[in-house]
Amino acid sequence: MTIDWSNLGFSYIKTPWRFLATWKDGSWNEGELTEDNYLHIHEGSTALHYGQQCFEGLKAYRRKDGGINLFRPDENSKRMNRSAYRLRMPEVPEAFFLDAVKQVVKANQEYVPPYGSGATLYIRPLLIGVGENIGVSPAPEYIFTVFCMPVGPYFKGGLTPTNFIVSDYDRAAPNGTGAAKVGGNYAASLLPGYEAHQRKFSDCIYLDPETHTKIEEVGSANFFGITAANEFVTPKSPSILPSITKYSLLHLAQHSLGLTPVEGDVYLNELDRFVEAGACGTAAVISPISGIQNGEDFHVFYSETEVGPQTKALYHELTGIQFGDISAPTGWIFDVPLD
Ligand SMILES: *Cc1c(COP(=O)(O)O)cnc(C)c1O
Repeated sequence: MTIDWSNLGFSYIKTPWRFLATWKDGSWNEGELTEDNYLHIHEGSTALHYGQQCFEGLKAYRRKDGGINLFRPDENSKRMNRSAYRLRMPEVPEAFFLDAVKQVVKANQEYVPPYGSGATLYIRPLLIGVGENIGVSPAPEYIFTVFCMPVGPYFKGGLTPTNFIVSDYDRAAPNGTGAAKVGGNYAASLLPGYEAHQRKFSDCIYLDPETHTKIEEVGSANFFGITAANEFVTPKSPSILPSITKYSLLHLAQHSLGLTPVEGDVYLNELDRFVEAGACGTAAVISPISGIQNGEDFHVFYSETEVGPQTKALYHELTGIQFGDISAPTGWIFDVPLD
């Protein structure tokens, strides 16, 4: 195995082991680690036809002492179960989820990038409806699988500012599945994302689907802005995916940086209130937003090339906690036992 840890992008790399469990007749089997990275599923699987599937994304971080941290994986489990409920899929018990994640990290521990490389192990839990079916109804069987791979930054350059563009498309409906981490939302984002990339933007910014006047999120990450009055502001809406990173930053902004945390409306015509802006998520970590294109208008935040001081401070606080260099609020860090 030769991996150039400091030049990893965000792409698939096959690691040796993944966990796989199946649900049938009302219960999960115990599941097992397997080397097979293909799923053999029925042609009528609801995941294929009706989008009955949800997923999660979390990371394992190599500490300075060689140990491995998970960051708030219990929150990923809870969110996956909320997504599952929305799509009429069975719950994956939290202890089962956490054990599967730990098993996968431990089995692939050589693929957890070294401390200091900036890279991490990205973990992808996936829950899909499978089994014989054709009508629109919940699947008779389910697969829960967890696989992983080492990754670098999601947006090119990591902590360097990039530009985003306001999309005319919606990723979710007001009372739809925007708050669930489901593939359907992402299928809807592929064309807008393609069009944004064609125009050299990092990604789209989606507006609230009801009035198209407020920023919702970035399609794969949540939005935040910092005002001159030292507020850390994130949009509040039932159609945003509730980012664990975002809620962690709301906490850290207040308790570590002394900013005022605000969840509220972010009107597109009030972007002047922000001196800094960024996108946040497990994959995106904190990606500074230099500017937002909205029709003919291009709004620049802090700078087109430099990262603002509060964004930088939040980044160091968050990643310091994740890699074990800064003490974490109670319950945020889970150690992965390696023996
Ligand atoms: C997963 C995801 C995020 C980020 O959530 P985290 O819990 O911080 O990783 C943001 N937006 C969307 C649409 C997502 O799917």
